[in-house]
Amino acid sequence: MANPEQPSLCVLIPVYNEAESLPHLIPRVFAALADLPAKVHLLLVDDGSRDGSGERMAELAENDSRIGYLRLARNFGKEIAMSAGLDHADADAVVILDADLQDPPELIHEFWKHFQAGCDNVYGVRTSRDGESFLKKVTAAGFYRVIDRMSRTPIPRDTGDFRLLSRRAVLALRQLRERNRFMKGLFGWVGYKSIGVPYQRAARVAGTSKFNYWKLWNFALEGITSFSTVPLRLATYVGALTAAAAFIYGAVVIAKTLAYGEAVRGYPSLMVVMLFLGGIQLIALGMIGEYLGRLFEESKMRPLYLLADAKAPGNTAGRLDQ
Ligand code: UDP
Ligand code: MG
Repeated sequence: MANPEQPSLCVLIPVYNEAESLPHLIPRVFAALADLPAKVHLLLVDDGSRDGSGERMAELAENDSRIGYLRLARNFGKEIAMSAGLDHADADAVVILDADLQDPPELIHEFWKHFQAGCDNVYGVRTSRDGESFLKKVTAAGFYRVIDRMSRTPIPRDTGDFRLLSRRAVLALRQLRERNRFMKGLFGWVGYKSIGVPYQRAARVAGTSKFNYWKLWNFALEGITSFSTVPLRLATYVGALTAAAAFIYGAVVIAKTLAYGEAVRGYPSLMVVMLFLGGIQLIALGMIGEYLGRLFEESKMRPLYLLADAKAPGNTAGRLDQ
């Protein structure tokens, strides 16, 4: 019998058309976690599958009290499926695991050790990716490096969604209600004590990847625009530079006309007016971009910060965070 004092662990698994993977997945997860000193249960989130995965998981849950499930009304995408799972998971720690067994559930033992040592966010760092094309590896590596540079939120490289989150990290994620959800960024935004655990990513056990390059490209754009206003700021700089060049060129045209007269009538005045207006327009666009960027940040209504720990001054027993 499970010890009632034991902490609880919820393994959250987003599932989209994974009927072929499910029969491999469930036994492997339970076998891997059999000797973990925790009360383990699974939360399967059916993200609008059309291959019977949803019915399969309902059957599995019927026969095993350790399995729970959520079924979304349609395919909302992995980010939303994970968010729905995090909203409903009730455990001391939650592990997010892919349904295709690309992330080894055995690694959760290692995650657990860090969790016991007080870590809130223990993430798997991929040292290699088996069964994925050269192009996917290169584009993924490039993406992680670009977003790391552009975003002020720490987003660890080569890190997917496979991770353990403490209860307070999960509670924090629930407060982030933005619609465009780039989870890798949200995990980083939360902060708290985080640590990476290296592992080798396996090939899929069954089925095919649900992400094609078009979806991945859109995902990358989502990540960059949700966590960085660098592109907007770029407009300001390009505008200011072009405007400066235009003003200088305008001055040259005026000086030339004064010194040598006009070769073509009307050309210098036309040129100067055009450059002047163009420059002013670009600067104005950049300024609008700056305000738009701020409006965009505000519209997300994220909490301003999260406390990791706090204590009221003096010897009062009351802690500030309670
Ligand atoms: N997934 C999901 N909704 C989607 C696409 C994918 O819940 O719209 C799930 C999928 O079932 C799997 C995980 O997200 O458990 C990762 O998907 P996949 O293996 O296709 O991605 P890859 O490993 O190729 O990046
Ligand atoms: Mg996969």
